[in-house]
Amino acid sequence: MMVYDKEIDNICLSIDNFLINKLDESPLDENLFPPQYQALVARINRLQLIFQQLNNFAKALSQGNLEANYPDRRNYLAAGLKQLHAQLRHLTWQTQCVANGDYHQIVDFMGDFSGAFNKMVMQLKEREIVMAAQRDAMKIVFDNIEPLLIVDDEDHYLALYFNHKANVRFQIVDNDLHKATERTPFLEKVLHVGLGSIELFDEDSQHWYTVVTSNLPWIGGKKSILIYCTDITVYKQRENDMSFVANTDKLTGIFNRRAFDNALERVFEQSQHNSEPLSLLLIDIDHFKEINDQYGHLHGDKVLVVLAKTLLSSISRPNDMVTRYGGEEFAVLLPSTNKFGALTLAESMRISVQKLSIPHDQEPVDNTKITISIGVTTCIPLKIDTPVSLINIADKALYQAKQKGRNMVIHFPFNE
Ligand code: GH3
Ligand code: MG
Ligand code: MG
Repeated sequence: MMVYDKEIDNICLSIDNFLINKLDESPLDENLFPPQYQALVARINRLQLIFQQLNNFAKALSQGNLEANYPDRRNYLAAGLKQLHAQLRHLTWQTQCVANGDYHQIVDFMGDFSGAFNKMVMQLKEREIVMAAQRDAMKIVFDNIEPLLIVDDEDHYLALYFNHKANVRFQIVDNDLHKATERTPFLEKVLHVGLGSIELFDEDSQHWYTVVTSNLPWIGGKKSILIYCTDITVYKQRENDMSFVANTDKLTGIFNRRAFDNALERVFEQSQHNSEPLSLLLIDIDHFKEINDQYGHLHGDKVLVVLAKTLLSSISRPNDMVTRYGGEEFAVLLPSTNKFGALTLAESMRISVQKLSIPHDQEPVDNTKITISIGVTTCIPLKIDTPVSLINIADKALYQAKQKGRNMVIHFPFNE
């Protein structure tokens, strides 16, 4: 006959609780059991504690928590978990070493994971070598190209990147653009050109630069500006040379007809805009054909050169312009000059030329004497007026000077 034993029932219930993982139940109270059960109850409670520790420790490990309470020393069942814990700790340390660039780390205690880890480290190492080589190659390229490159933050405070040429020119220390602009005022200009492209002159080096700036999405999504400065001094010089050749008369060295036409357009517009007087002198050598016929074409050329110099030395204002209009005709543009000023200058030119005595290369031919006729007009152009009308009227005045006997100045009014 089965005898119902309440204590065994409680002990079984307690064991069932750990089996279904209800480990947080209070341990059994030994004192509530008869003496013959107390040793058994004590072991059951010890088992509950061991399972509790194992369970908490395993749960913490499964969540990656390596700082959880350690099972006590006599919890022999936890030996495997403790070893796993130690290995995870070591693995964490090794991973940190790899993250800091130490690719010597090898894992040999984690089965398949070891192989995967070691392969990952090897690939990282290879990729870093490739990237370092690419970075070095880019650095060599960017440090050796002619343009100056700077990447600055939007506030023009920090140089996020600059190449060697930019550093040589701007002497950037500690990436600090403010300090660098104190040393090189040209950098201040460069940093404030705004987005786009502009030509700037660097007073210090006496060089011309094209400065191109554009937005650049920088590392980490930071907004930045790429500044690209190309030295264009040589091209500027060439441009000036070409412009000089295109605008200069080869024989006399003064401005040619092309320069005159461009300047006339410009000063005519200015006079219209400012309602200021503009005067024009058209000058023609008297009987020049005879000089050519008598002394030869080369001597005629020499006369033209001497005349050009004489006319040039008669003007004093920077905006006055003496040009060879064509053949033996010269045109003098006089911005901001009224009729009186134009007539005074024309008359002084006429007298200077009359006083000339131009020696011939083949002595004892007499020195050449020449005279000029000058047609003058002055306008304050209205909107409807054109530069051509100014030339036509000066030409008519010149024609009359010729008609009236040459070696004289005739002024024709513009708007009559
Ligand atoms: P005027 O103007 O007083 O009526 O007489 P002119 O003899 O000066 O008149 P014209 O305009 O007929 O002659 C101009 C001459 O200037 C003809 C041409 O041979 C000469 N001439 C034009 N260009 C040059 C040049 O570059 N060199 C030389 N030597 N002669 C030139
Ligand atoms: Mg002529
Ligand atoms: Mg003539």
